Amino acid sequence: MDTPLTRTNLFGLDRQALREWFAQAGEKPYRADQVMKWMYHRHVTEFTQMTDIGKTLCAKLQGLAEVVPPNVLFEKQSTDGTHKWLLGMDAGNAIEAVFIPESSRGTLCVSSQVGCGLNCQFCSTATQGFNRNLSTAEIIGQVWVAAKHLGNVPHHQRKLTNVVMMGMGEPLLNFDNVVRAMSIMRDDLGFGLANKRVTLSTAGLVPMIDRLSEESDVSLAVSLHAPNDELRTQLVPLNKKYPIAQLMDACVRYTQRRPRTTVTFEYTMMKGVNDTPELARQLVRLVRKVPSKINLIPFNPFPGTRFERSDESVIRQFQSILIDAGVLTMVRRTRGDDIDAACGQLKGQVMDRTRRQAEFRKKIEEGVSNAA
Ligand code: SAH
Repeated sequence: MDTPLTRTNLFGLDRQALREWFAQAGEKPYRADQVMKWMYHRHVTEFTQMTDIGKTLCAKLQGLAEVVPPNVLFEKQSTDGTHKWLLGMDAGNAIEAVFIPESSRGTLCVSSQVGCGLNCQFCSTATQGFNRNLSTAEIIGQVWVAAKHLGNVPHHQRKLTNVVMMGMGEPLLNFDNVVRAMSIMRDDLGFGLANKRVTLSTAGLVPMIDRLSEESDVSLAVSLHAPNDELRTQLVPLNKKYPIAQLMDACVRYTQRRPRTTVTFEYTMMKGVNDTPELARQLVRLVRKVPSKINLIPFNPFPGTRFERSDESVIRQFQSILIDAGVLTMVRRTRGDDIDAACGQLKGQVMDRTRRQAEFRKKIEEGVSNAA
């Protein structure tokens, strides 16, 4: 192998790709397994500290490869324990990852794109537009940063038990990178998470849901938010292309793959918009055909939004209608409100470059003053 101009960031390769990479470099494929253990189990990024690879291979790796996690621009912890990282991806681009600790599990919310192009009306990421897809290294790097912070060691004391692809972006529009990163999350030599503890959330890209069921057996969440096409198209413009009937059929197909699974429907509760008893009854009829459960998410406000959160009593009534009809329905507790880490509040810097960089500086300054 000639010395390349840019070195390969090994965070971008899953186990199979890393084995092939070593083979191409004239090395035994099992070296991939050794290096992965250092990277993901011990959080080591320097080849010189990987003591079982030998001096010659170490020098060779230094020439060909690197292990570079995202740059932590700042981090913040909420009063409820929710932890948010602002991660710099390249000049002017940053994304956020959020860790949500609960008594029985710890969930990391991971981003798949810088910004988002789907323009869902109630989501703050949409106001920033779409900038670019994240690479596999940038996606798995978010998990790495969180796991390192939490001192997570697979098979020992687990703090990070679940990953949800529910941060910024539409994961099914960055399919290959997301699938590869999710494979590292579930690999024993990676983060060793159980398949069902890695969840991909989509606004409903029907053909890609089918592709996902062929290539990966992660859990699926679908952002539904409305039980009829008229309302859903207003809230989630993608619905125009893939209306509810098609989406429900794709969900049924997903649940029928092997091993069989269920789908989680996310439903953000917006005052006077999608929270009436009649809509709850429509929702019952809709989801009956799909082995599923429903998560009701109280709407999280952000500056400039025209939506408001449904009243607590309205959410409870909506939930009762569903439960009484036999639909498993949970109300998601809002977490990380005080640090803008709740659903739909994740902000990176997109728009035009000037604004991006101005905001970037502001965030960094805020980070510095918060840390002080
Ligand atoms: N694009 C993917 C993943 C990102 S959104 C998707 O649409 O599923 C993650 C979840 O947060 C989705 O269910 C989304 O609809 C919800 N969400 C977005 N904005 C929100 C807000 N302001 N308040 C509450 N939930 C929101």
